[in-house]
Amino acid sequence: MKPSLNPRLVNDPFGDPGIYIDFLYEKRGILFDVGNISALSTSDLIKASHVFVSHTHIDHFVGFDQLLRVNFGREKTIRFFGPENFIRNVEGKLAGFTWNLVDRYDESLTIEVAEVLPGLIRRATFKAIEQFQRSCEKEETFLETQPLWEEPSLKVYTAILEHRVPCLGFALVENRHLNIRKDKLESRKFIPGRWLNELKTMINEGAPNDSTISVPVGNSAEFVTESFTLNELKEELVQISPGQKIAYITDTVFQEGNNEKIVELVKDADKFFCESPFIAEEKERGKERRHLTSRQAGTLARRAQVKKLIPFHFSPKHFERKNQLYREAEEAFTGLDLQPAD
Ligand SMILES: [Zn+2]
Ligand SMILES: [Zn+2]
Repeated sequence: MKPSLNPRLVNDPFGDPGIYIDFLYEKRGILFDVGNISALSTSDLIKASHVFVSHTHIDHFVGFDQLLRVNFGREKTIRFFGPENFIRNVEGKLAGFTWNLVDRYDESLTIEVAEVLPGLIRRATFKAIEQFQRSCEKEETFLETQPLWEEPSLKVYTAILEHRVPCLGFALVENRHLNIRKDKLESRKFIPGRWLNELKTMINEGAPNDSTISVPVGNSAEFVTESFTLNELKEELVQISPGQKIAYITDTVFQEGNNEKIVELVKDADKFFCESPFIAEEKERGKERRHLTSRQAGTLARRAQVKKLIPFHFSPKHFERKNQLYREAEEAFTGLDLQPAD
């Protein structure tokens, strides 16, 4: 069964950091960080529904303008999430343009922004039709154990990490996916309808296997209603694919307290995108600049027992040492290298 979410790095590991998550069964994408995004196609940018920004250093946020440019004049809402001061950062970006002609557009872009602080989330909305003036301000309590974003098929969690400025780590957790086998529907002459939703709901809610469901059988002109048990329908019609967990950590430091927060957030991820700007022996430089080394990225991945580690955000200084960065991270991850990471 193909996974329904397909994450990829926006740029090569020396380029601006960020991942784009493509939805296989929907015209939709999610961005984690929005640095230089010129490698993404216009259709990828139009599909973006949510943008999670770790922090607003320029290499993580300079692509905001391009994303705005492509989506301006479209009837859609893009939801942005970021750390402390993020609403002001977005407002500052929007204030950099002149919006006197917005009423000539039939369709209006809405930007919803949430910024995460310890124990608190602040929200604001900017609508093109209102010349992107700040509106709908709200403040709510927020614990890092709660999802930052939630919808029926997935949740996104965050943690506030240390980078001399607050920097957010993210983990997207997809719920398991129930797929109905169309070939079986056709061969049994089952007519699709509301009963399929009922079937999915019963599986999701753990209804007893002998519960019954009425199924229209035949064709739309002439059909009879037959009763089947949940177990029969589940066995024959439903394929269950487990949801993926995709974690994204960048621009942070290997230190007590911070490490535990990262491990908790990314635990058991199927794909762990982790920054690795420096080589293993540069741990002093990492501490000073508030960045991870390759060995530290691998060590965090091992502690969190992730399935796959994808290092990125390599320092351009190490252009000739790409393989070394990958090797050091992988060896610390698999346990081949167990030297202390700090
Ligand atoms: Zn960075
Ligand atoms: Zn940074």
